Amino acid sequence: MKIIMLGAPGAGKGTQAKQIAAKYSIPHISTGDIFRANIKNGTELGKKAKTYMDQGLLVPDELTCDLVMDRIQQDDCKNGFVLDGFPRTIPQAESLDAALEKIDQKMDYAIDVDVPDENIINRMGGRRACLNCGATYHIVSIPPKKEGICDHCGNALVLRDDDKPETVKKRLDVYHEQTQPLIDYYAKQNILKTVDGTQPMEAVFDAIVSVLEA
Ligand code: AMP
Repeated sequence: MKIIMLGAPGAGKGTQAKQIAAKYSIPHISTGDIFRANIKNGTELGKKAKTYMDQGLLVPDELTCDLVMDRIQQDDCKNGFVLDGFPRTIPQAESLDAALEKIDQKMDYAIDVDVPDENIINRMGGRRACLNCGATYHIVSIPPKKEGICDHCGNALVLRDDDKPETVKKRLDVYHEQTQPLIDYYAKQNILKTVDGTQPMEAVFDAIVSVLEA
């Protein structure tokens, strides 16, 4: 099962992607996580990506596409994968299609977790992340067991630079301009499924599972 998660930043697609990956035993591939790991490890890619990420801008396609194409060709992706945060532009979607076509495959589902901008802005201010292991929380809807501390690794939780209000506004503009056109792109391929992302997390997950098992 090869799945793309679509949705604005903060729509909850990452949380859903992790759960889908666990339920169907397929890898969760998050380009945001890959870039953050590179930043943490001080790689050249990380240094380049950070300058864009901190401004709420997309990392250029040439730094992003090869990374994903290499990843989806690894052995653990044989039975499928969940892409979270990729593709984010039409050229990225076209490279993905072209890479899969070469191996006679195609994506099965593009799931749009639909949440209006007003809800997103309210949600993002409450997001907290662990920069050590990548776990994400929300002070109201997914609080850590101990305030400010990661449940998984015990590191301090922070408001990521790219979750700060001025950056969120920029990311939403970028989303509408560059990523939203993918909704039509996948609708035309007949693989688009939209779920209401304003519901409680468990209900969003159930809706996604219903789509995948229909
Ligand atoms: P995310 O964790 O998916 O919200 O991604 C955080 C940031 O990483 C984004 O705001 C972008 O700057 C960058 N990023 C992640 N995925 C992509 C992508 N597919 N194309 C370009 N930039 C990306």
